[in-house]
Parts: sequence; structure tokens; C-alpha cells
Amino acid sequence: MFSLSRQNKRLGIYVHVPFCAKKCAYCDFYSYAPRDERVFSAYVDALLTHMKSYRTVGADYAPDTVYIGGGTPTVMPSDEMMRLIHGIKSSFRLMKNAEFTMECNPATADFDTLRRYRRAGVNRLSIGLQSANTAELSALGRVHSLRQFDSTYRAARRAGFDNINIDLMYGIPFQTPDSWVNTLRFAIARSPEHISLYGLKLEDGTPLAANASSLPFPDEDMEFAMYKYAIAFLAEHGYRQYEISNFAKPGRECLHNLKYWNCEEYLGFGPSAHSYFADVRFSFKPSVSNYIRCVGGRTDDEMTDEYETIPMRERLGEYVMLRMRLNEGVDKREFFRLFGKDFDRTFGAKLEGYEKGGFVDNSGGSCRFTTAGMFVSNYILSDILEFDAAGNFAI
Ligand code: SF4
Repeated sequence: MFSLSRQNKRLGIYVHVPFCAKKCAYCDFYSYAPRDERVFSAYVDALLTHMKSYRTVGADYAPDTVYIGGGTPTVMPSDEMMRLIHGIKSSFRLMKNAEFTMECNPATADFDTLRRYRRAGVNRLSIGLQSANTAELSALGRVHSLRQFDSTYRAARRAGFDNINIDLMYGIPFQTPDSWVNTLRFAIARSPEHISLYGLKLEDGTPLAANASSLPFPDEDMEFAMYKYAIAFLAEHGYRQYEISNFAKPGRECLHNLKYWNCEEYLGFGPSAHSYFADVRFSFKPSVSNYIRCVGGRTDDEMTDEYETIPMRERLGEYVMLRMRLNEGVDKREFFRLFGKDFDRTFGAKLEGYEKGGFVDNSGGSCRFTTAGMFVSNYILSDILEFDAAGNFAI
């Protein structure tokens, strides 16, 4: 009985593919355009070796979600990607009907490749469109055109993908309320099952940040108006917002990403991938060459970037920070059950001003952000959670 219930433990698997055709102007993720194609097979070898080392751990778990993200997974040669997909399936006992997502850049996937991946078990595709306006795509340094997006999207449908996400961005140079409306219309006309929309953040060290002063950006009021408009527009077209940036048709929420926000366990593979497993959060250094070297040589210390057991006090902060991202917010009864603390006594006084300002709805059995609160959620959370100088949560 014990062994049966352990075997039924759920797990998310994340695999990072840190390669892109070309670096986008705004991106500070760990990814690069490889000059030597041999890196693909060496990297897949390393991932497969690494995953196999989790076989004993994995035997107690039945992963119900897999997410191959990046970077641009579809930049990998399809034979290497197929080795990776089969390696994931042979290293872990995936649940039947597990959600299996792959991220895809429109310029890097054709029908034959997508059909291969679909037949191998990938059943959800996340395609980065970002904007339906050519000037905006070019300001972002995206490698694809609108036509390429359309052709990839149609190829994905023909290949059998019936669960597709489209990524969009607002707050980008040259964007206007009208062009944003056009982008939203363009996306819903394709009828994807899921839409994500992110506000552009200027990250230090990126070409976009360096050129920002010479580019016309929408101001913050306009960005908020775009965000509000999108929520209403998507709701009107059958997409329910379930997280700050995520909208889905009924039953099409991304189960893998929900694991992050629900503080459930997941294992990440690859440089810069993060894991939360057995009460420990850890990540690997952002270097492909270091990863390949360390996996082969079993030098875990050189491979690991962060490694920390989460104390209860910090877990409480993380729980609030992640759950507040969801529309349903924090369930106060569940909060008490998990942490033995009354939510209102712990946070009520700090939330009062935000409630009065219309940013938080703290009525009844749950506490959640309003639309205005979601737009400035990072600011509110860092205020109410009071992280100390070392980045630890302090009540
Ligand atoms: S495709 Fe994605 S990961 Fe690659 S550079 Fe562009 S934004 Fe970054």
C-alpha cells in the first residue's frame, strides 16, 4: 500500500534547451545561437545521462507533466530532439495522458518535424508570436515573420496538435492601443486553446535596454490600459484568466505551470534549470559546457548553482507569493492548515491600504488581486512579504 501511494506521487519534468536561432533584443534568459552543431548531440547525451541518474528517485513518481522549454527547443535537429523525447519517456514512468509541452519559435519548425514530435508524444505546443505587427517584431529582434507564424500554426494543427498556446507581449516599442487590439484579434482568430501575455521588461545588458532612449515605448498608463483591455477582450472570446499572465479556454490551463504556482514538485534538467524537490530548491549553473562536463564527471558541486532547503517561514512567503499569482488567490483555510497561522492576523494590517486602494480583494475565505493589483503585483508582494537584505522572507 505504501509503495503504491509513493508510486502515485506526481511530478513535473522541465528540460531546458538553451539554444536559439538568434538572440532577441530583449532577452536575458540563458540561451545562445551555437556556432558548432556538434553541441546538440553532446548536450542531449548529457541530459540523458543526467535523467538516468534520477531513475531510482523517479521510480517513486509518475510525472504528469513534461515541459521542454528554452531557448528554442525547435532549433535542435529533429533527430536529437527525438532522442531527448524518447530519453525522457524511458527515464521516467510518465502518467498516461501526461501533458507534454514543447516551446516553438515559428521560424524553426515545419510540418514533418512537428508531426514527428506529436507522434512521439508531445501533445501541447507553445508558440511565441509576441506581436502581429511587423515593426514591433523587428524592434524586438524576433527572427520570424507573421507569415511564418501562420504557416507554423497551421502546420501544428495539421500535425495533430489540439492544445496550443500563443505568447503575446505588450509594452513594446512602437506599440499603440490599436496595434495591440490587432495583435489580440490576430491571435484569437486562430482559436488557440491558451494565450499568455507578458508585459515587456527592460533587462539590463540587453540591446533593447541599451537603445531604449531612442525608441517610442507606451507609457505605464497605456500599458495598464492594454492589460485591462486584453483581460476583458479575452474573456469575451472564451478565455478565462487564471493567472496574472495566462488565459485559457475551459479545461486548457497549463498543468505544468500550475505546478509552479501551487508549490508542487518538479525536476529541472539543463543549465539554469530550477527544481523544487523533497523540500529543496536547486538550480544548475547557466553554462552548457560546464553542464556537459559535470554530468559526465559527477561533480555535482560544480554543476549546482543554488541549493537550499526551504525553512517553514520562507515556504510561507513563497506560498503567498506564488498563490497570489493565481486568480483564485490564497485560500485562508488552506493557509491555516499548511502553516498553522491565521492569514488575516499575519497579513491583514499590511493589506488594508491595498484593499482600500482597490488592488486586493480580501473578503471572505480568500485573498486575491484585482486587475489593478495584478498589474503591480511584484511591488505589492515585495512590500507585504518584507524580504530581508539576504532575500529571506520575514513575517
Ligand atoms: S527565442 Fe526566446 S529564449 Fe530565444 S532569444 Fe528570443 S526570447 Fe530569448
